[in-house]
Amino acid sequence: MPSQTLASRVTRMRESPSVAAAQRVRELKAQGRAILDLTVGEPDFDTPEHIKRAAVAAMNDGLTKYTPVNGIPALREAISKRLHLKTGLDYDSSRITIGGGAKQVIFLALMATVEAGVEVIVPSPYWVSYPDMVAAHDGTPVVVDCPESEQFLLTPERLEAAITPATRWVILNTPSNPTGAIYTAHQLARLAEVLDRHPQVHVLSDEIYDEITYFDAPVPNLTAVAPHLRDRVFLTNGVSKSYAMTGWRLGYGVGNPELVGAINKLQSQSSSCPSSISQAAAAEALSGDQSFVTESVASYRRRRDVTFELLDEIEGLKPVLPQGAFYLFVGCADLIGARTPDGTVLSSDQDVVLYLLDHASVATIQGSAYGADGYFRVSFATSEDTLRAAAAAISTAVSALTR
Ligand code: PLP
Repeated sequence: MPSQTLASRVTRMRESPSVAAAQRVRELKAQGRAILDLTVGEPDFDTPEHIKRAAVAAMNDGLTKYTPVNGIPALREAISKRLHLKTGLDYDSSRITIGGGAKQVIFLALMATVEAGVEVIVPSPYWVSYPDMVAAHDGTPVVVDCPESEQFLLTPERLEAAITPATRWVILNTPSNPTGAIYTAHQLARLAEVLDRHPQVHVLSDEIYDEITYFDAPVPNLTAVAPHLRDRVFLTNGVSKSYAMTGWRLGYGVGNPELVGAINKLQSQSSSCPSSISQAAAAEALSGDQSFVTESVASYRRRRDVTFELLDEIEGLKPVLPQGAFYLFVGCADLIGARTPDGTVLSSDQDVVLYLLDHASVATIQGSAYGADGYFRVSFATSEDTLRAAAAAISTAVSALTR
């Protein structure tokens, strides 16, 4: 078969490491291996019944055609209300765009604004997709290390130092995947002061985990803290994580009308609109009964505490207690240099992850995939039994290492 010539934008991109890890787990399971899978980036709960019913009703009512590119009115209204509660500001249709997941909305926002010569500041640890999405559009991801000693959060000093005349965006993700860190209102206000000095810099605020938080207060929001920046903040969110709807593929973005219009144009030429049925389901998710969110977060909190406690007892591992999302970032730098029972030396976090997969049958993802060497990510969006079994297996495997 003659080989197809691929565009350089594709060859520049890596496959998503989390998708690759999930694929590896599927392959091992297909070979008959019992794997304790802690790689998953999605809730293990099913979508709540009232949301499914809304989808069925939409189908029965004939909502099975193309919709306006910026969505059905019920969904736009639900998003607008949600955003008003969060920021205190009004969002009319010209400020709202929807897509097949927050991921697609972020991709289109970058497609609309990034080209050769444009820099995008990506604080690290980062969600795996940001740098590759920037590179896909010929831009330069400027990765800024945000160490654990600074709670993995971007400081005003580091932001200021990373900005150049070519900077178009800084990406903030709060709560963060992979660390679960959350910016306080004060920290956001200090970042806003830096942004005030650099009007060419916009903020892509990825808030996909904002309902999953272990505080009793809402996650602070940059636009609420600094409303004068509203036209420079593109906020993205969706229903995947909060409502266990990853497969429905529905996300949204809110921002200034010029950017939203450009994204809608790209959407109109690529997918026309996301699924009409998913839109109806998402409208119900955002505006209907919210008890699922409360109950699932209570369950994640228990799982977080159990997993943290068990991993913290293992010598050589240093889990970081997350404030939001459903991931634990675990320091494993102390294991690097150790020798496995078959004599291999662990020389990176990737080696640690492979060792845990081979010797403990526990699947995790190396921190270097998130731009932070010396860690691995554990998802606790799985049953407590799985988490306990995984922690026990990790403990046995780690104690078999020698120095
Ligand atoms: N942003 C972050 C930080 C994520 O972790 C994910 C999913 O893993 C997304 C965005 C994408 O979510 P969606 O399912 O809405 O595309």
